Amino acid sequence: MRLLIPRETRPGERRVAVVPSVVGKFRQLGFEVLVESGAGDLAFAPDADYAEAGALVVPLSGMDDALAGTDVIASVRPLDYNRAKRLKAGAVALSFLSPGIDLETIRALRDAEATGLSFDLVPRISRAQSMDALTSQSLVTGYRAALVGADLLPKFFPLFMTAAGTIQPARVLILGAGVAGLQAIATAKRLGARVSAYDVRAASADEVRSMGGTFIQLDLDVVEGAGGYAREMTADRAQRQRELLTPHIADSDVVITTAAVPGRQAPLLVTSEMVQTMRPGSVVVDLAAESGGNVEGSRPGEQVKVGEVILWGAQDVPSEMPVHASQLYAMNVYSLLTLLAKDGAVVVDPGDEIIDGCAVVIDGDVRNETAQAALQGGS
Ligand code: NAD
Repeated sequence: MRLLIPRETRPGERRVAVVPSVVGKFRQLGFEVLVESGAGDLAFAPDADYAEAGALVVPLSGMDDALAGTDVIASVRPLDYNRAKRLKAGAVALSFLSPGIDLETIRALRDAEATGLSFDLVPRISRAQSMDALTSQSLVTGYRAALVGADLLPKFFPLFMTAAGTIQPARVLILGAGVAGLQAIATAKRLGARVSAYDVRAASADEVRSMGGTFIQLDLDVVEGAGGYAREMTADRAQRQRELLTPHIADSDVVITTAAVPGRQAPLLVTSEMVQTMRPGSVVVDLAAESGGNVEGSRPGEQVKVGEVILWGAQDVPSEMPVHASQLYAMNVYSLLTLLAKDGAVVVDPGDEIIDGCAVVIDGDVRNETAQAALQGGS
């Protein structure tokens, strides 16, 4: 069985799907590991480290043959059309393939009679936890968000009692306490801030407290959909939530927003008017900036000033910590491959709940309904 790791091509992407320290585990599973030359450069994993770990480094000129001969290809971002179409029938491509967006790749996989499995769609069941790349990458994002807040704030995070007087700890508010939000709470706590958080899900109050944060109780109903995720709320409830959150925002030095609803644009939690209630020098970190934004006016990859408040819009945050983001992702890839590697062959079994959940295309058959609808709409 051959596993190929290509160089990522999307601008700004610094991660690599497999790092040298995990190559040995794939080999034990029975894979010959091929890595495109330079694939790990931006994650500080040079070709020589892959070679030392037992991988074969393939120059760009050898990639067409490598693509045609591989059984599994693992990348972070979906392959582009030209690469995906070179795969052999039955080859498996693993990545964050978005069934409603990455239609060129899905078409190429369909035409090549290949298989596309997506880390966006791994079911959130305990057996799949080790394969859950959304979780591993959100951990990186949440950690980073707290550091960005601390870095941009012209104040200390911790309490300081000094001979020159006492400095009160910064107040950090986290909106959306999923995986990223909980990690942001933990990180801001470790830095000494006073942390509070709000989320629409019923379970989140205990989760916030377990991280050492104070849960903000609002006089609103919970909004919970399938699979432990939030669902879209009515415009009235969203408006009421904004009103009730405004005094908490005004009282915060740093606000970090992480709210998302699967398959929907990110909900607007904070308006410019609310941002302007914050003290000068305060910071708002919008982790949802790439999916529509939780904060009015945020732009991915940019810092915007709203009065004297800095609004930081997230873009490719895991790529800011490519070493550990790639290491965690590599272990997610490995865990998913343990499901596929059977007696020296790659077997895609749609009878397995995890494969059934994350398969967008199997042997050219587009099975995901979102992808089917998008393909019918587009061609
Ligand atoms: P997500 O990225 O989809 O959303 C982030 C958070 O935003 C969620 O907690 C959501 O409730 C919250 N949110 C949505 N709309 C909001 C609003 N208007 N105001 C405030 N908050 C809002 O979520 P996620 O981090 O992927 O986690 C979602 C759920 O999945 C959580 O319950 C988490 O514990 C669970 N989970 C389970 C597993 C597993 O069992 N394997 C793994 C990871 C996460």
